Amino acid sequence: MSFQKLGLSEPLLKTIAEQNYTQPYPIQQEAIPAILEGKDILGIAKTGSGKTASFVLPILEMFQTKSAPKNRFITALVLVPTRELAVQIGVVFQTFGEKLPRKVKTLAVYGGVSINPQMIALQGVEILIATPGRLIDLLSHKALNISETEILVLDEADKMLNLGFADEMKDIFFLLPKKRQSILFSATLGDEVDKINKSILKNPLTIEI
Ligand code: AMP
Repeated sequence: MSFQKLGLSEPLLKTIAEQNYTQPYPIQQEAIPAILEGKDILGIAKTGSGKTASFVLPILEMFQTKSAPKNRFITALVLVPTRELAVQIGVVFQTFGEKLPRKVKTLAVYGGVSINPQMIALQGVEILIATPGRLIDLLSHKALNISETEILVLDEADKMLNLGFADEMKDIFFLLPKKRQSILFSATLGDEVDKINKSILKNPLTIEI
């Protein structure tokens, strides 16, 4: 199996090769074509499985043909439990996105630092990676709008719930449009994660690694 067969275009394949990703990991083999087709995904996978590239690559590919949204309207939202993970995913979007013909502004936002610079940096952002608490703060400042968001990714959903973000997550889901693509990753599929799966994913492809 090669990255060429997954439906990714030449500029992205070039960066993938430059990053010395010679073969797609199993989760990428399943998730990338399905995400490109617009399917919802329930991925039960741990860190180290290659789960980040399994959503970053198809999202960047899909953005190549998307027109820019109105200012402060976020097209793709990635919710994560921690600052570290937000920053890490931001770097992966940056690495794979920087040489593509259609540039996509990506930003990671998280709590524990002052909100003002983040509000300014949100100008022109299309892909936002956020911890739930800070996202709610930014929404209450009207610094961004998620009512036309097309893609939602929940990464490490079990950890987000363990850290006590269930209420924030519910508030965020309520503000998103019903018609969207949703991708949920979790290391484990407990009752709480399954509840989210059943309430927000539509006919998902389940991938268990
Ligand atoms: P993740 O599970 O997303 O945190 O990825 C774990 C590590 O695997 C990261 O250092 C990635 O850069 C690396 N990685 C992901 N996919 C591939 C691939 N297909 N080939 C080689 N390395 C990869």
